[in-house]
Amino acid sequence: MAVAPVGRHMHVVIAGGAYGGLSTALNLLRLSSPGNTISELLDGEARIPHGKPQYVPDYANDKRSPANKRTHRGQMRLDAHTLLSTIKKPKITIIEARDGYYHQVGTPLAHTSSSYTSRPWINYSDFHELSDPNVTVVRGTVEKVDLGSKIVKYSDGSAGNHKTIRDLDYDYLVIATGLRRMWPVVLLAMEKKQYEKDSQQFIKKIENCRNGVIVVGGGAIGIETAAEIKHQHPTIPVTLVHSRKRLLSSEPLSSEFQQTVLDLLRQQGVSVVLGHRVIKSVETITNKHQNGISNIHLDDGTALSADMVINANKGAKPATEFLPEDVLDENGFVKVASTGQLSGAQPGCSSVFALGDVVSSSEGIKLASTAIRAGRGVAMNIASCMMANQPGVVSYHARQMDIAIPNDTLKIVVGGTAAAYAQGKFTFGVDVRKKIFGDDVALSRGLRALGVIMAE
Ligand SMILES: Cc1cc2nc3c(=O)[nH]c(=O)nc-3n(C[C@H](O)[C@H](O)[C@H](O)COP(=O)(O)OP(=O)(O)OC[C@H]3O[C@@H](n4cnc5c(N)ncnc54)[C@H](O)[C@@H]3O)c2cc1C
Repeated sequence: MAVAPVGRHMHVVIAGGAYGGLSTALNLLRLSSPGNTISELLDGEARIPHGKPQYVPDYANDKRSPANKRTHRGQMRLDAHTLLSTIKKPKITIIEARDGYYHQVGTPLAHTSSSYTSRPWINYSDFHELSDPNVTVVRGTVEKVDLGSKIVKYSDGSAGNHKTIRDLDYDYLVIATGLRRMWPVVLLAMEKKQYEKDSQQFIKKIENCRNGVIVVGGGAIGIETAAEIKHQHPTIPVTLVHSRKRLLSSEPLSSEFQQTVLDLLRQQGVSVVLGHRVIKSVETITNKHQNGISNIHLDDGTALSADMVINANKGAKPATEFLPEDVLDENGFVKVASTGQLSGAQPGCSSVFALGDVVSSSEGIKLASTAIRAGRGVAMNIASCMMANQPGVVSYHARQMDIAIPNDTLKIVVGGTAAAYAQGKFTFGVDVRKKIFGDDVALSRGLRALGVIMAE
């Protein structure tokens, strides 16, 4: 006989609705849907309501998934199987500054190819799982968090320029607000319409860069940006300048892989200047045709000029200004325990989780795939906390799984080709690009990892 669920609907607020935030929301929703248990989720058998069976990520065979840490899994399955269906489904509120989900990995192509631009931005109304009555997606910007009183203050973004500050109580809060970077390596717009307009204007500008484009910064983003400009606009001269002797110099990768990426980039037609810092900031001189010519000066006295200089080096800052300083490290990243909970000692920290790019971590390269995986672990840990703290549920002690995912993998698009590194080994080539990134720069792959199938 079915027993009515006990307790109250707990409220989970998620700040940031991209890879990490959406993954947490969708997994929590699946965990708490009638008939689903953590064990079914782990076995890839969970079904999303709305009739038809849906694709569910293969948790059981995903070796790197936090769900497969053996020390916790057996116990969590047993407890969750017994208890999860006995509590009321949580209310989930996602607060997102943009008016849709944005697949950031696709930005270099979105900013160079007008046929792709609109694809990576998906309205939340197209994610039919989010139409669950327990889920609300709020267009707004989180402005402040009071950890002690468990209140989020956010400015309502639905009213255009008019800012209204609203309060929201939470039982559990998830921080998935990522990094802020500089245009044009990422978008600035908060609305799809504006984003499309900005991107199309930018593409037109690139088409007119007959004197070339210089990209400064030889990390993954600089490489992908430079290579995609050259790939989409082969007649435009493109130069990448990097201060170190090797590309990808800050990442834990083998020198053979770094050299391979350099070779691929040069084969794509990008000129690469290594081992020289830019010492003088860009000056733009407008010529008689009203075109801006930008000059940069390198530390060996060389001057380079182009129609456009893109700085892919600077300006990445975690979007965490709404959190108290004592939960952040010196660079503004959120300090977390291995369970994803804030590691501070002040009241309220254990009810707040952080994941993805905002997290202070020495665990390697920050990636969309890592944020999606961490979302599964955070959802399970919140489910476990909810059961332990739900009035009416007796003798359940929250067990938290370790969600820290050391990452020594990198998959990088280099124009028409790609390279993939994992645990010291690597592959590269046109086939690698096809297999890993498909024809949509891994947009579909990312959605599959989130467990989502979009309507055709
Ligand atoms: C050009 C480029 C190429 C990349 N290529 C790859 C790649 O090939 N493979 C890969 O795995 N990774 C790649 N990455 C890295 C990847 O994009 C990040 O690791 C990933 O986006 C992190 O996900 P996240 O959910 O933590 O943050 P994000 O994806 O940045 O999402 C954060 C969300 O929070 C919202 N937000 C921010 N502040 C607030 C606030 N105060 N209130 C409400 N909402 C807020 C933002 O609008 C955003 O939607 C690339 C990144 C860039 C910039």
